[in-house]
Amino acid sequence: MSFEELGLSAPVLQAVTEKGYTTPTPIQEKAIPIVLMGRDILGCAQTGTGKTASFVLPMIDILAEGRAKARMPRSLILEPTRELAAQVAENFEVYGKYNKLSMALLIGGVSFPDQERALEKGADVLIATPGRLLDHFERGGILLNDVKILVIDEADRMLDMGFIPDVERIVATLPKIRQTLFFSATMPPEIKRLADRFLSNPKEVTVSRPASANTNVVQGLVIVQDDQKRDALLALIKSQEVKNAIVFCNRKRDVAALHTILKKHGLNAGALHGDMSQPARTETLEKFKAGDIQILVASDVAARGLDVQDMSHVFNYDVPFSPEDYVHRIGRTGRAGKTGHSFTLATPNEGDLIDAIQKLINTTIPRVEVPGLDTAILEASDGRRRGRGGRRGGRGGAAPERGRGPRREHSEPREPRNEQPAAAPVQAEAAPAPEVQQPRSEARAEPREARPDRPPRERRPDNRGESRGERRPEHRSEPRGESRGERRPERHHERDDGNSPKGLGDHVPAFLARR
Ligand code: AMP
Repeated sequence: MSFEELGLSAPVLQAVTEKGYTTPTPIQEKAIPIVLMGRDILGCAQTGTGKTASFVLPMIDILAEGRAKARMPRSLILEPTRELAAQVAENFEVYGKYNKLSMALLIGGVSFPDQERALEKGADVLIATPGRLLDHFERGGILLNDVKILVIDEADRMLDMGFIPDVERIVATLPKIRQTLFFSATMPPEIKRLADRFLSNPKEVTVSRPASANTNVVQGLVIVQDDQKRDALLALIKSQEVKNAIVFCNRKRDVAALHTILKKHGLNAGALHGDMSQPARTETLEKFKAGDIQILVASDVAARGLDVQDMSHVFNYDVPFSPEDYVHRIGRTGRAGKTGHSFTLATPNEGDLIDAIQKLINTTIPRVEVPGLDTAILEASDGRRRGRGGRRGGRGGAAPERGRGPRREHSEPREPRNEQPAAAPVQAEAAPAPEVQQPRSEARAEPREARPDRPPRERRPDNRGESRGERRPEHRSEPRGESRGERRPERHHERDDGNSPKGLGDHVPAFLARR
């Protein structure tokens, strides 16, 4: 099918052609005609599928007629993060270049007066994060009674970030008669219930997997002791042909620390995390996109939506807490039909997180060894070694901050969810990248069940604003590391010799242990 067959106008088709798109992606093929008909949509699709254009292109045509009054936007797009909102705004500019639509972008960290001026001029399209939109609404700077089209994008991410009460408040102020387009990568029951309330007789559109651009990632897993992660990362960067890369960390303070280290090693590195001011975030992103920064050390604020042409590598300096985040992180590379590479550094006690990821992507991530470093093996959650093979890591013991328990970005999902996307979004069938040795054996072949011990999701008391401090994760009650075996006496690791007393698990009293 061609874009011409979808019913889009000549100006929009012209912009699409100039962007270089020749054929619509599956979500575009399915959604665009439905949106043009004025129907509501319940879309199950992830980033990387071409989802943004699937709503932006027809919206431009629907809004082409008419003009917005001051402070009364005609359409509203809600995005969970500033980066995603900014990216949708960029898309509007590109696809709407032959239309004269006005746009306002309301995101945190950017000056209020500028945003007020944009609203005052009248916005055909308003793109906003929920917190900043409510701030404007409460100051009386905006009226939402004229909104004819509402887009709720990344609804599951909104849920993870605790924005749903804000979204509900916003939707309550909109006209009942409107067109609503609702997108989510996954459809857990809470999201389905929300969709049922917001949508009227929607057409369901599901794309089973992201566009092929996102499936072409050669993955690798490096298991090392915590105190060898930096060396492992530096060795990987050196051994790979890194054109440009994102290094993901789970914590903001690690982003800053690692950024300093990479710079000390002479690498052209930048940092991006949720505590930076919006101008600093924007500047860093622009430098990275322009190639002025080669390696971006980032938290998960950069995991979704960030669209950098030809990114060669993603490094997970930390295993993400949520398996969906893994998919989003590595999806930053291997885009637009290019092959990308991802390497994940895991410590031996992170077997459960790796299991959850492997279960989600339905594949085992190939282990790779970094020359010159001891390769460790994953342990089961009770601290036992899994399988055979692999060398013991040189130095046992977790770094002290591990023991304090992980802290997470305030804007990161709070815990892995059980729901899976419609299909495995990544493949790992290609061989590991050159110059990194294949492991001699797999620590574990089969992914296990995801962690069953997740506590219920908790709502933030103040769930507005995208940059209001860090949250602690709730899904790990134990400090990482300390209870997982690496500080135990050596013989407990070596107890699979058939001589150990049976039935006592790891807690073999010293006087019973045979030597
Ligand atoms: P999205 O899922 O909206 O984040 O889009 C993912 C990537 O696909 C972006 O780089 C888009 O520019 C690109 N894209 C969107 N539609 C098409 C298309 N029809 N053909 C090729 N690339 C596309």
